[in-house]
Amino acid sequence: MQQTCDVLIVGAGPGGASCAYWLAKLGVSAVVVEKKVFPREKTCGDGLTPRSVHQLEQMGMSGFLQSQHRYKGLRTIAFGHEMELNWPQHPELPDYGYVVSRHDLDGAVADNAVEAGATLIQGAEAVEAKRGPQGDAASVTVKSKDGTTTEYLPRFLVVADGSNSRIGRQLGASRDRSLPMGLALRGYFNSPLSDEGLIESHLDIRTPQGEVMPGYGWIFPMGDGRVNVGVGILSTLGRWKEVNTTKVLEAFVATAPPRWKLDSSDPIYVGTGGKLPMGFSVGPRVGPNFVIVGDAAGSINPFNGEGIAYGYETGRLAAEVIADALALDDSSVLRRYERDLDARYGDYYRIARTFVGLIGHPAIMHTVVSAGIRSKMIMDPVMRVMANLMNEGHYGPAEVLYRAGIAGLAAKDRLDPIWQAGKSLAGTSRRR
Ligand SMILES: Cc1cc2nc3c(=O)[nH]c(=O)nc-3n(C[C@H](O)[C@H](O)[C@H](O)COP(=O)(O)OP(=O)(O)OC[C@H]3O[C@@H](n4cnc5c(N)ncnc54)[C@H](O)[C@@H]3O)c2cc1C
Repeated sequence: MQQTCDVLIVGAGPGGASCAYWLAKLGVSAVVVEKKVFPREKTCGDGLTPRSVHQLEQMGMSGFLQSQHRYKGLRTIAFGHEMELNWPQHPELPDYGYVVSRHDLDGAVADNAVEAGATLIQGAEAVEAKRGPQGDAASVTVKSKDGTTTEYLPRFLVVADGSNSRIGRQLGASRDRSLPMGLALRGYFNSPLSDEGLIESHLDIRTPQGEVMPGYGWIFPMGDGRVNVGVGILSTLGRWKEVNTTKVLEAFVATAPPRWKLDSSDPIYVGTGGKLPMGFSVGPRVGPNFVIVGDAAGSINPFNGEGIAYGYETGRLAAEVIADALALDDSSVLRRYERDLDARYGDYYRIARTFVGLIGHPAIMHTVVSAGIRSKMIMDPVMRVMANLMNEGHYGPAEVLYRAGIAGLAAKDRLDPIWQAGKSLAGTSRRR
């Protein structure tokens, strides 16, 4: 069976569901195909920062959030020191976050998009995207659980199929392997501190050889008797693929503060993991009639591994360009998506990628963390920058730190050609 539609969205996670919601609000009814059936498990830390909460509130989901576990900030721990940092006051973003299992969150956000006017087809997997002569997405074959196959001929396609993004790859997108990537593993545990009002991150997780790794361990209280516990590591660690994340998580659980009463033999513990494509490492993100959002575009924040907010935000940006392209009957409008991404995240993600490259050196990681963890004056602005909570119109320590980072990168860009030219001149004179 063939089916035409204005917009087809593959995947109803944060990227796809937000795109569907904002399209509906802009008067465009999209068809969303989702291979799973909600509610479904999704491997995640379940942590919503103020950026995610802001997007959910903008989608009218404050009522849903009210029944979830709210927290006010972060306790960060390393090398025997700990510090509590509340989420900052911000003119736009809330000063609180939530921990919500993706099992409950994603179905609720998808339902919200349906209430706004989107069509959601669950248990329907996009198995093949065929390219047209111009490199466009000419058709997408979708197989339903009942065995029926539908060939969609969408005017516009949104690829929101997550970190493995088979459909994105079929359309020519690939990950730049020179850029960092993360690996994370998580499990649920029973804990008497499930109602804690702070999430906790440990910046001194170690390799089995005892070396501090670039990455962190987390304990996020769920408010329902459980805590979500996990570890995330970065590809900047040499031989990172050989690291057994299950062993790292087990070691983390064994050394976690006893007050959480974590127990590796907890019957609810099952470790599941996934990849964290970050820093917009996947591209191209726009084609003649398609855009790629969320993890499929590698949109995770390299500073902290947060991806839900960026799924919501990139889904929304995609909705805006598609609605304009439809209104103007001009698919070249889609190219604006790339410019919008660059304007919003370009500098920030360049700084984040440089930071992640630096902390890949265990000695630098050790020095940075042990200096920061002793001083709130350092840690508070660092936390704001890492969670992308700067206030544009303001000149506080976080904003100054961030602008110094931008200036540093600009200086590096200017000096690099001179440095390279100097090196090759020196080489020439030596050869003489
Ligand atoms: C262990 C771990 C912990 C994490 N912790 C956090 C955290 O605490 N906070 C945070 O902000 N981020 C966290 N992240 C990152 C976050 O989970 C992702 O960035 C986020 O889910 C990206 O949303 P998405 O919509 O792009 O993709 P996904 O959430 O992966 O959604 C993609 C959807 O598409 C569906 N799909 C896939 N292929 C097809 C297909 N062919 N046809 C139809 N449907 C398809 C999938 O079933 C899925 O529902 C974590 C990630 C991991 C692995």
